[in-house]
Order: sequence, then structure tokens, then C-alpha cells
Amino acid sequence: MPKLFGTSGIRGIANKDLTAELALRVALALATKAGKGNFLVGRDTRVSGECLENAIISGILSAGAHVRKLGIIPTPVLAFLTKKYGPDFGIMITASHNPPQFNGIKIFNRNGIALNTEQQEDIERIIKSEKFKLAKWNEIGECQDASHWIEDYIKLIIENVSLERSWRVVIDAGCGATFALAPLIFRELGCKVKAVNAQPDGFFPARSPLPDEESLKPLCNIVRRLKADIGLAYDGDGDRMVAVDEEGNLAPLDQTLALYAAYAIKRAGGGTIVTHVEASMCIEKVVEEAGGKVVRTKVGDVSIASAMKEYNAVFGGEPCGAWIHPEYHYCPDGILSSVLLLKMLEEKGDGLSHLLKQVPRYPILREKIECPNPLKEKVMQKVEHKIESVFPDFREKLTVDGVRLSLSEGWVLIRPSGTEPLIRVTVEAERADLADEIMRKALQFVNSVIREAKA
Ligand code: MG
Repeated sequence: MPKLFGTSGIRGIANKDLTAELALRVALALATKAGKGNFLVGRDTRVSGECLENAIISGILSAGAHVRKLGIIPTPVLAFLTKKYGPDFGIMITASHNPPQFNGIKIFNRNGIALNTEQQEDIERIIKSEKFKLAKWNEIGECQDASHWIEDYIKLIIENVSLERSWRVVIDAGCGATFALAPLIFRELGCKVKAVNAQPDGFFPARSPLPDEESLKPLCNIVRRLKADIGLAYDGDGDRMVAVDEEGNLAPLDQTLALYAAYAIKRAGGGTIVTHVEASMCIEKVVEEAGGKVVRTKVGDVSIASAMKEYNAVFGGEPCGAWIHPEYHYCPDGILSSVLLLKMLEEKGDGLSHLLKQVPRYPILREKIECPNPLKEKVMQKVEHKIESVFPDFREKLTVDGVRLSLSEGWVLIRPSGTEPLIRVTVEAERADLADEIMRKALQFVNSVIREAKA
């Protein structure tokens, strides 16, 4: 049996990889682990959501545990409510930004933090052992509707953030889990809101659940035509946010993250920012200028959240738009991030396009080299061992996720693909010619290591 859990829980095509039967077993395992107990269950708008939700609830109840059912809700709201009410587990049924045919199960502990690899492996062992504890007929659990708990989240934002100006905001929920909540919160904050794709639809007919340059072209046009102050888009489950500036251009992801990170550092009077190994060095540039420091982790929000706790970071995030605000909770939160981004614009008294010009943009190059899966580990060991001789004047070597060297005017990251027979090489440098030169050296090096490993 292949591994069930990946970095973001269980993910796969609904009714093929992720069946109601598997969902039921996951729930039975969690309720067995909890020894009855209490659960929160929520889902995004996917077509398969209701089917999986019913299976999960059945599993929990049959093990004698109780369920508070939240219905359609963004992942971060489920995480926040899990932290607030402290059930044994919060379960979110979502495939985030993946295409409509996918679904997934993401599990949060009572602190509202997604389970890490070891905790997931523990659950996986129970699923595979099938040692589920079924309750007696008269001890089967109860399921109650708790969709009104979403009010707690609305209050959280309204009570902590206020806007002076009545901003003109265009919101694109993409028919995902933020469809009602995002427009409602911005209206509560006094904004003039135009909401598009604000009906729940698990086929995602309007755009991909992944907010990117291509899928947000219509939003950019609407912002331009309405002369709005900002456009805000979310992924399928609302833990990511992508902004469109007042000129109708998609705000570059790394630069927007860097801009907000520097603001968070200034507001806190210093501190630590956490991001992952693939994010742009523009983050160090502006964060260090603002008096803060940057810690880099493995790719994935669970790694970022755990490093943020460890370093007591003031802010952290991934350039995909998954930003974590520790003073609220430790799950990336799209709606909260977009509200706080607008608050930043108000405090700075400037438009997003203008502010983003203050953050440098460096050339980034990405290449991939074929490498058979069984050789990857050996290749990466050799890469780690020998890379210093290729770049002898490196400043720092990080091995949390692949091998990343900081150089005097850039960096190089060599990382095996998690799924495909590939080694990926990423390079960023201050100038294009430097980036080309670093990439040339890195490709030559990795190719020679692969040849050696094959021999
Ligand atoms: Mg997501």
C-alpha cells in the first residue's frame, strides 16, 4: 500500500485515489487515536465534498466521538475554530488549489496546526492496522451543526482591524470556500466591494482554483475597468491570497510577500521572518534593511508554521500567497492576509503598484535534469558533499530541502522532485549574466554527478 499522507495531508482524485471508504477509515483511525472525543469537520466547495464529508462524519460517530459540522468553510477558518474550541482534531476536506476532480483531507491538532509528518505517520499506522474501536450501539456519537461558529472568525477580524478609508475592492473567490465570507468581511470593514465568482461551484467553471497570472486575467481587467484600488483572489480553500494592484496588474508574488514582511518587521520593531528555500532573495534584501532577519525552511506551510513557532517569528509565508500571521493563528489565511495587506496600504498611504517598485526584482532561472528515481538519494548525497568545490566562495549552505547555497550575488538550489524522475535547479542572481553563469556551472555539476552515480 503506498503512503497515504503527503506534505498537505491526503490528496488525490475523488472516488479513485480518495474514496468515501478511505475517508471513513481515516476518520475511524483519528477517533480511535482520540479515544472517542470531539471533532470539527469542514469542507471546500468541491463536487466530491459532501460525499467525503458524510463518510468522515460516519467514521467519527461510529467510533463514539462527536462532530461539530461547519459545512463549507475556508481552511484557515476551520484551523482558527479548532484552536479556539480545542476539539481533539479539526478535519478539512479540500484539495486546495488542485483541479476540480481532486480532493483531500487535511488534519489539524487542537492548537489549530496541521499535523506534521510524524503525527501523520502515526495515523497512517492505525489506518493500515485496521485496529479501529467501534462504539456500542448506544454510545454512537452525535453530530451537530456549528456553521454559525463562522461568526467568531468575522468578529476576530472586525475587532482587530479597522480601515479609515472606504476602499474600492474587487474580490474573486473563484467559486471556492471564500465565496460568501470574503465579500462579507470587506463590506463589514466599510469597503465598496465588487464580488465576482462569488457563488459556490465545485466544478470551478469561472477559473482554476489556483490563482495565477493566467486564471486572474479577468480579475485584472475588472480592476482596471472599475478603477478599483485593489483586486483580491483566493485559492479553492482560501488559505492563499493573490493581489492585483490599482493599475490592474497581478502583484508579483515574491515581492508582495517581501513588502509585507518588511512592514511586519518595522511594526514589530525587529524580529524574524520565515519563508522557504525557493523564495526570492528580495525578501532578505528588504527585511534586513528593515532590521529583521530571515529564516528559510523546507517548502510547505507546515514547515513554515513550525519554524515560526520555534523562532517566535513575527510573520512568515510562501510566495504562492500562503501567509501566516502568528498573532491570529498558525494556518495560512487568505482573507486575513488580504485584509492586513489593505491595512498596510492605508498606513503607508500609497498604492500597491508604487510600493512594489521599492522591492527589487531579480532574474530567476529554473531548469530540470532527468534523474532516475532510485538514483536521486545517491545523487543528492554527492551534490551535498561536492557542491562547495564548484562554488568555493559561497556564504551559507542550507540542506533543509535539497541543497541551497547562498552566493555573494545570488543563490542556487538543487532539489529532487518529490514525484517525478527529475532534479530541479533554481538560480537567482542580481543580474541576468550572473544568473546564467551560476546556472551553467550548476547544470554541468549536477550532470556530472548523475553520470558518476550511474556508473
Ligand atoms: Mg489552499
